[in-house]
This record gives sequence, C-alpha cells and structure tokens, in this order.
Amino acid sequence: MQDKDFLWRGTALNGQFRLLAVEATQAVQTARDLHDLSPVSTLLLGKMLCATAMLSLDLKKQDSEITLRLEGNGELKGALAICNFEGDLRGYAFVPQLFLATPADNFYPVKALGDGTLSVIRSIPNQRPTSGYTKLTEGEVAQNLAHYFEQSEQIPSAVNLGVLIDQNAHVLAAGGFIIQQLPNASQSEAEHLIEKLSQTPNVSDLMDMGLNIRDIMRRFIFTDGDFELEQVHTVQYQCTCSRERFSRALLLLGIDELEDMREGIEPVCHFCNQTYHFSPEDMSDLITSLKEPQ
Ligand SMILES: [Zn+2]
Repeated sequence: MQDKDFLWRGTALNGQFRLLAVEATQAVQTARDLHDLSPVSTLLLGKMLCATAMLSLDLKKQDSEITLRLEGNGELKGALAICNFEGDLRGYAFVPQLFLATPADNFYPVKALGDGTLSVIRSIPNQRPTSGYTKLTEGEVAQNLAHYFEQSEQIPSAVNLGVLIDQNAHVLAAGGFIIQQLPNASQSEAEHLIEKLSQTPNVSDLMDMGLNIRDIMRRFIFTDGDFELEQVHTVQYQCTCSRERFSRALLLLGIDELEDMREGIEPVCHFCNQTYHFSPEDMSDLITSLKEPQ
C-alpha cells in the first residue's frame, strides 16, 4: 500500500468526459481510528471523505472549503465531511459506533440513514456560502452523489466510491472516481461508457488487488479509448482547528453566554477530538475583550 493519498484529474475520449479520482486509504483509516468508527459508520464517512476530496477539485481559491453532509431519520443519522482547497480532509459521523442488528445491513450505510437529504456547501472566503441539496434516493453514497450532480448541477455523472475494511475494521482500501459527461459528448459514447461502468468492480476491491486509479481506468473503463489523468496533489486527514478558532467561536456567543461559562469550559473538536481548556481566567479575559473592544 502506498503511504500517501492522491487526488487525480483528467479528461477522456477526446475531451468529451471529465475525470476526477481519489485514493484515500490513509485518510479513511485515520478517520476510523480517530473516531473509533463501527463498520457501517466507517463506510458512510469513508465514502463521503472520498467524495468530498473529489468535489474539492472544483475549488478555485485558497481557504475555500467544500462540505458534504448526509443526514436522515434512520438509526445512523448522518455524517459530515469537509475538504479544503489544499486537500485537507476532516469529518465526523453523527453516530460513530452504530452496529446494526442484521449483519448485512452494516454494508449499506445510506439505507440506515432512512429518509433524508444530501447537501453540498461551498464556502469561499469573503463570500456567502452557496449550497445545494437533494433528497436521499435508493442506492448508496455513490448513486446519491450522481443523483445530486444530475438534479442540482445538471451534470450527467457516474460515481464509483469504495471503502473496503477487514474484520478488525482496518481499512484495506478507499477511493473513488467520478466521470462527468461534458456538453459536447456523444450520446452513443456515453451509453457505451455506462455499459463499461456497470461491469467495473468496486474501486476499493480493485485497489486492494494492487491497482491504482490509472490502472483501473485503463483496464476497465477506457479499454479502447484515450484518457489522460494527472495527480493534482496529496489528500490527508488534517483538522484545521486551533485554540484561536475556538476563542473566536466563543466570542461570537456574546457576553451573556460567556458569563454562563465563567467557571471555565473544555470544548472538544468534533473532527479530531482534541480538547481545548478554557480556565475561569481565560473566560474572564474573553468577556473583558468583548466589553472593551480594541
Ligand atoms: Zn480539530
């Protein structure tokens, strides 16, 4: 297994299709370990991390971020994954340690979400965030993401996402690819491609056999056509929290809320479980800074 995860971008069949791909085995393993995720939560958050990493390829500015959120009324409740322009991923599952009673159900996280929504939120510095959402449909994360592209962004897309874990919840492989049809694509080429995709095994199974993204494209999808794929940059599980960020968030609560926390608080970061200590003195400093703006 390679020790770095990469994001890839490319085109195929004479520029008729756009390719996005990711290998994210290490990042998903880190998420699993940090949050002690059960298998079904690993599959949900892991696939969402792969998807979010690929969605981040459309970000154009430093400090911008893309968030993918799936939530529903089922037992698994949902998860959230964020990737920034630099390829730093983070996320958390709303119910990290869920085990479903019927063993096979643990392989179908979206089914365990019940009725709900998939949302995509883009945050760009100094701009209002933009968002789009679709209702969850039959199928897993990949089918729901394809449905989102079709409904919300009018881009016909094929999505393959895979997270393969062993019995000890060790992540053997995680990755994915997205093929998007561009306006100039011929319909017969698109249909031919859909046929190929339907015969392509899951991307994580192929990665576990030692194939990388380029091998998978060449051997299974573009067997008789051209494609180009280039590594864009690495992706890694990297939280962006800091004491300063928590302080800024606390200040936004206002004086009354902070007065209620005068004894001190210890907020925990959802994304990396780091605890930050704010002593009674720290709280009184924050309150003072609000009372005496510089
Ligand atoms: Zn954190």
